[in-house]
Amino acid sequence: MRLVLLGTGTSFGVPQLGCDCAVCRSTDPRDRRTRSSALIEAGDSRILIDTAPELRLQLLAAGARRLDAVLMSHEHADHVAGIDDLRAFTGGGRPPLPLYGSERVVEFLRGAYRYIFDERAEPHAGTSKPKLTLTPVEPDRAVTIAGREVLPLAFEHGHAVVLGFRIGPVAYVTDAKRVSAEAIRALQGLEVLVLNALWWRPHPTHQSIPEAVEAARAIGARRTILTHLTHETAHAELAARLPAGIEPGYDGLTLEVSE
Ligand SMILES: [Zn+2]
Ligand SMILES: [Zn+2]
Ligand SMILES: [Zn+2]
Repeated sequence: MRLVLLGTGTSFGVPQLGCDCAVCRSTDPRDRRTRSSALIEAGDSRILIDTAPELRLQLLAAGARRLDAVLMSHEHADHVAGIDDLRAFTGGGRPPLPLYGSERVVEFLRGAYRYIFDERAEPHAGTSKPKLTLTPVEPDRAVTIAGREVLPLAFEHGHAVVLGFRIGPVAYVTDAKRVSAEAIRALQGLEVLVLNALWWRPHPTHQSIPEAVEAARAIGARRTILTHLTHETAHAELAARLPAGIEPGYDGLTLEVSE
């Protein structure tokens, strides 16, 4: 199984528009972060998590030529705004691409992207729109998606609830503020955990780095990769400060995980 972190930045991305801080001016390519998303290639299955605003650029960089399913963590713009880029993978006689998310996210997408999901919204002759289907999934109920067992798990995120996803030895959790005891139990025995951390100080809707470290320790994955990072942490400096087994992700980081 291969996990590719397509994007590892917070909602502003790094560098942040209009900012001249040291991290935004850094020449370390790992300090250039597009919005968070990931690709899991398991056997013949290609599963995308989230459609970040830079999705086209991310998938070009990863060399992705095909997708089989898309898992949506939640409805915030930094996780869905690239949805139209999925058009490149549909049409031309190919079947629609299935999207999965919570009931709330499915309803949001139907309303926010009516031109995609309302069957009465036909594209003008000679033009196209993404051909996507929406299927709600429930937390704690494993489903088979693109031939793989996927376990959705719920996490508190301010007014929103995000879904994290476990696929065999890998789990991807972004935008969580709290990791419940139930989730910690469901995430035992992981090879790789991708977990969100914003910055060192507290934030009302995201885990801080110390909170993420505490959750990572309780889960105990062999390797934990932090994502959704901001311009407050230079990659190299953060890597040096984190305990063993926990490391900052960066755009394009690719992990081969044995199943
Ligand atoms: Zn986010
Ligand atoms: Zn900055
Ligand atoms: Zn969010």
